[in-house]
Amino acid sequence: MDFKFTPKEEAFREELAGFVKNELPPDWLGAEEEYTPERWPMTRATSAKLGKRGWLSQSWPKEYGGQQAPLLTQLVFQEEANYWGIPGIGMGIGGTAWVAPSLLMYGTPEQKQEHLPPIASGERFWCTGYSEPGSGSDLASLSTRARLDGDHFIVDGQKVWTSAAHVADWCWLAARTDPAAPQHKGISMLLVDMKTPGITVRPLVNMANAHSFNEVYFDGVRVPKSGLVGELNRGWYIVMTALDFERAWPGVRYASIARRIMDELLKYTLQAGLKPQHRTRLAQIAVETAVGRALSWRVVDVINHDRVPNFEASEVKVFTTEVVARAIQTGLEILGLYGQLSPDSHQVRLQGWLEQIYQVIVGNLIAGGSSEVQRNIIALRGLGLPR
Ligand SMILES: Cc1cc2nc3c(=O)[nH]c(=O)nc-3n(C[C@H](O)[C@H](O)[C@H](O)COP(=O)(O)OP(=O)(O)OC[C@H]3O[C@@H](n4cnc5c(N)ncnc54)[C@H](O)[C@@H]3O)c2cc1C
Repeated sequence: MDFKFTPKEEAFREELAGFVKNELPPDWLGAEEEYTPERWPMTRATSAKLGKRGWLSQSWPKEYGGQQAPLLTQLVFQEEANYWGIPGIGMGIGGTAWVAPSLLMYGTPEQKQEHLPPIASGERFWCTGYSEPGSGSDLASLSTRARLDGDHFIVDGQKVWTSAAHVADWCWLAARTDPAAPQHKGISMLLVDMKTPGITVRPLVNMANAHSFNEVYFDGVRVPKSGLVGELNRGWYIVMTALDFERAWPGVRYASIARRIMDELLKYTLQAGLKPQHRTRLAQIAVETAVGRALSWRVVDVINHDRVPNFEASEVKVFTTEVVARAIQTGLEILGLYGQLSPDSHQVRLQGWLEQIYQVIVGNLIAGGSSEVQRNIIALRGLGLPR
């Protein structure tokens, strides 16, 4: 395996660093929450700038707004964007990471034509409606109902933890279309315009005091039949593929964030001084960061060979999110009491960035399937162990 990037890919890294310098505030460390009312204008404006450069859709076919670039170009983009904390690369929750790739696999030509170009141009934001009050890890038990009525589905039910629903234009929705069938065989995937009458979005404020996710209520919402993705009642298999996509790129994301934390901590300790016990902690995080990056490259390599990453995606998701959590923990120990200060304190160190991600990472260990669930997948599908 050749771990070198081409001169063209390295030049693209430089171009992205230039974008950060020119388009983001000086000393920008990243916005952990992109969809809060305070951050949203910047997120939206940055998405449009990224879309204009064709960076949100590098590997897609040209006919849908893509660049048909090699997947490794997308890898470089993801690494740099996440390292530098460029906001707005996801087009909401899932827009670029799993809605677009799933539509490329399962969408009708009309669905691709309607939805892919506005994602590529950084204009259409998505939310993902899977979880419900009684269905999270056990997603197949979901009960939001979509009943066929002529040319429309009528959707009734409630979703929860729906990130970015308050800013999203469209929803990637899993709903039950056949309640009589076994759980996995009665689910369908729908594309739902968030402006449709009958949808109510209520804010949920997380432990970092940020409004990032929501409850979403569907009350007699009429969704045109043309919004059905793939076959009726076969949506579970699309959800499974979409979840594999969802778990594939975060490996690159969290490995890059871990690298940035390492680099910032190194700069800080070289200036502020270092206690002996922190040397070995930092060295350990450096090793884990390198392993996480290699694992994330392996997943991209799987996609590059036209396979959907499966247990490999779970491996990298669980490993890299936990590395970030350990890196932050180490960082907070190094900062000592300063580590507890929030960004608005005049004594703050590293802009209070670590204190912020410390609170956000807890959710990242759960979102997209908790670490326990990822380990179950690795045991079952990766190691062939019995249930
Ligand atoms: C920050 C954040 C953003 C999110 N964004 C979205 C979103 O945009 N859209 C969306 O649909 N959902 C979203 N979610 C919801 C997320 O997908 C669920 O929280 C997750 O799947 C877990 O489901 P649950 O919360 O119902 O917990 P539960 O499934 O009730 O799990 C509770 C605990 O039991 C453990 N557990 C459950 N089953 C098993 C098992 N079989 N073996 C071992 N342990 C198990 C879990 O690991 C967890 O610790 C988000 C969550 C977070 C934290």
